[in-house]
Amino acid sequence: MAPRVDPVHSDETLPEHADVVIIGGGIIGTSTALFLAQKGVSTVLCEKGHIAGEQSSRNWGWCRKMGRDPREIPLIIESLRLWQGMNGLVGAETGFRQPGIMYLSETRAQLDKLEVWLEYGRQYQLDTRIITSAEVAELLPGSAKNWAGALYTPSDGKAEPQMAAPAIAEGARRLGAGILTQCAVRGIETAGGRVAAAVTEKGRIACDSVVLAGGAWSRLFCRNLGVDLPQLKILSSVMRTEKVEGGPECSASGAGFGYRKRLDGGYNVSQLAGNVYDIVPDSLRLFRDFLPLARIKWSGIRFHLGRRWIEEWRVPRQWGLDDRSPFEQVRVLDPQPARKPLDDAHASLAVAFPVFRNVAIAERWAGLIDVTPDAVPVISAVQSLPGFFIATGFSGHGFGIGPGAGKLMADLVTGAPTLVDATPFRLDRFADRSQPRPYPLATAV
Ligand SMILES: Cc1cc2nc3c(=O)[nH]c(=O)nc-3n(C[C@H](O)[C@H](O)[C@H](O)COP(=O)(O)OP(=O)(O)OC[C@H]3O[C@@H](n4cnc5c(N)ncnc54)[C@H](O)[C@@H]3O)c2cc1C
Repeated sequence: MAPRVDPVHSDETLPEHADVVIIGGGIIGTSTALFLAQKGVSTVLCEKGHIAGEQSSRNWGWCRKMGRDPREIPLIIESLRLWQGMNGLVGAETGFRQPGIMYLSETRAQLDKLEVWLEYGRQYQLDTRIITSAEVAELLPGSAKNWAGALYTPSDGKAEPQMAAPAIAEGARRLGAGILTQCAVRGIETAGGRVAAAVTEKGRIACDSVVLAGGAWSRLFCRNLGVDLPQLKILSSVMRTEKVEGGPECSASGAGFGYRKRLDGGYNVSQLAGNVYDIVPDSLRLFRDFLPLARIKWSGIRFHLGRRWIEEWRVPRQWGLDDRSPFEQVRVLDPQPARKPLDDAHASLAVAFPVFRNVAIAERWAGLIDVTPDAVPVISAVQSLPGFFIATGFSGHGFGIGPGAGKLMADLVTGAPTLVDATPFRLDRFADRSQPRPYPLATAV
């Protein structure tokens, strides 16, 4: 079941020309549109379904610095700064608040493992710290468990996934960006070896640059252009509770659950384990690239061979600009949620916080997370095709970093000094094998 998303209506007409065409109306595409429009760049965003129809409305809503791969820390710091000013900038509610995030530990040994990350937090003067059992009890008064302690970042935040990207899209529109929904981009037309136009199902938009922010579809789009983007998909499920009186304010994960209090008084609940990886033809093609990541993460993932193998096998790998593209065949990826990990998460949460014992579950849904081999995104120009840029592969933690990623992409496209050093996010790191390994302590969501 797809979560309800704040609606964003489409512009009626397709412009003939724009400086930049953005593909994809998730948090990354809408943030890129916002910051390009703020710079006065003529921008059009094309979304094949509706704004925030895929990952960007289906996530937990955590906006965290804590537990990140060290390569992402400068960008997430900037991103949280941008979130702080976002409601004002877009003139609407994104749900951004800073109630903190906690990784709860049941044992001293677990806490010692979490503590290793503090070394990175200290380098950037973050407020992340280890807190004692007594401090946890004080901060989470309804918890029935005697926790050994927690890794805690008071300034970490949350926003509302079903509101944020739509609010940012409307904000971009107010600054002059065009927003087209039900408008799949089929491919790119080139002239003199560089981008000349984006070809959509509704017609052609001449442009100087194209930004691909296509989430789980990005590898397919790139393959048709002859650009190799290593990316796989993992299914992750979430549920939403009805309103809970007296529940915890600070977001937390621990002992088989993770949660975030929503603006409507309910909670998004899930767990870090229990993600499902469907084996597909790309699993074989990309086996070597993803082996290091699989070794680190595989205890938390269930592997499955089923219908998706056939479905992906049938997807054309090449099509022409006049052909109906695969993006027009599936407007919104809406996979079935995995029931058991959600039921288990609810049971574990109710043990830790008795207030959740008899709470009704209002909705369950799932999303397909787009993962790169080092679980760090690509935010990069594509050297082989001048004018083509990619912002994708946020590997399960792109919502919080979305505004920063959008601003960074807007800087790259316009050749402005960049918000942070973009080197760690280069696409070429995969091809030239300079790609550092995935960071073993990075947490998923
Ligand atoms: C269950 C779950 C929990 C998560 N929890 C968190 C969390 O708590 N915190 C966090 O930071 N991150 C979290 N994430 C990750 C986060 O949701 C994603 O990293 C982020 O939303 C990615 O945004 P995006 O814009 O790149 O992709 P998406 O939101 O997937 O958007 C891509 C869009 O591109 C469109 N598109 C693709 N191809 C075309 C085309 N050819 N033409 C037109 N449109 C196209 C698609 O229709 C889609 O709408 C979670 C993800 C999931 C699934």
